[in-house]
Amino acid sequence: MSCKQASRLISDGMDRPLGRGEQVRLSFHLLLCRNCRHFRQQMQQLRSGIRRARNE
Ligand SMILES: [Zn+2]
Repeated sequence: MSCKQASRLISDGMDRPLGRGEQVRLSFHLLLCRNCRHFRQQMQQLRSGIRRARNE
């Protein structure tokens, strides 16, 4: 999987549950790729920030 595909799956995963195969491929890529781990972390922080803002 390329970083482009991985980041696509990361943002998809924020909106819908990923399939089993997608999850496996993505987590394998994340093991190897620091950039995408960082990207996912940022996405998660962004999401929780948005949720917080809505609840307040
Ligand atoms: Zn990557």
